[in-house]
Amino acid sequence: MRQTFDVLARLVGAGGVVVLSGAGLSTESGIPDYRGPSGAARRHTPMTYQAFTGDADARRRYWARSHLGWRLIARAAPNAGHRAVARLQHAGLVGGIITQNVDGLHTAAGSTGVVELHGRLDEVVCLDCGNLTSREELDRRLREANPGFAAQVAQVNPDGDVDLPDEAVAGFRTVDCGICGTGMLKPDVVFFGETVPAPRVADCFALVERARAVLVLGSSLTVMSGRRFVIRAAKLGIPVAIVNQGPTRGDGYAALTVDRPLGKVLTALADRVAGPAVPAVAGTPAAV
Ligand SMILES: [Zn+2]
Repeated sequence: MRQTFDVLARLVGAGGVVVLSGAGLSTESGIPDYRGPSGAARRHTPMTYQAFTGDADARRRYWARSHLGWRLIARAAPNAGHRAVARLQHAGLVGGIITQNVDGLHTAAGSTGVVELHGRLDEVVCLDCGNLTSREELDRRLREANPGFAAQVAQVNPDGDVDLPDEAVAGFRTVDCGICGTGMLKPDVVFFGETVPAPRVADCFALVERARAVLVLGSSLTVMSGRRFVIRAAKLGIPVAIVNQGPTRGDGYAALTVDRPLGKVLTALADRVAGPAVPAVAGTPAAV
């Protein structure tokens, strides 16, 4: 372990690192990971774009669950892993951060210029007029449309969806776009069955191609959406390091893998190569 950590520290300490993070980085913030060690407990499959746009009942179920789950996501604070990444970035060692997470916690931890591959849960897009509005605004409108809607929150998933009995869902009222008046609203995140916008993918490839090293944090690299960047780096001879709990589908491309809790490893890494931790800036929002 010590030898592997030394190699990791040398790789990251040399700078030019592009970070690719996934759900495993946010589990220590209380946001469960579909595919990590706790992912086996997943109770329902994630919403697909096709079901969301094509089935009013599926959409009502999504918003009812998400309406409850959003409060927990909005309360989530960055953890030691996010803070360590921000320290590495402020020390000038990180050339870019690509995240598959939609929780905004990298930015909340003080990182800048984060490419949010799958979008952000705190923004809502109208599928007709394309206007973006804040999730807070939608939350207010959903509460007005559903006075007294209260159900037990049992389980939160990374996309803000929670388990909820069918009978609780049946009476939930969704709302349409407040700007064009009729458009269907969708959280501005990439659902399963949907593709990441091409310019965003191109930005990520450009970051990876300029990198001296790629550091994967808390992603099992199960979906091609993230794995393709690791494959590109490996093809270009750019070393890939993976810190994740459990094996990943990118291990075959990696120069080294570290299977340990992320908060501890990344804090030790930042202590080694980024200098002493600085106190958080007063007034920095702790949540998205
Ligand atoms: Zn609209």
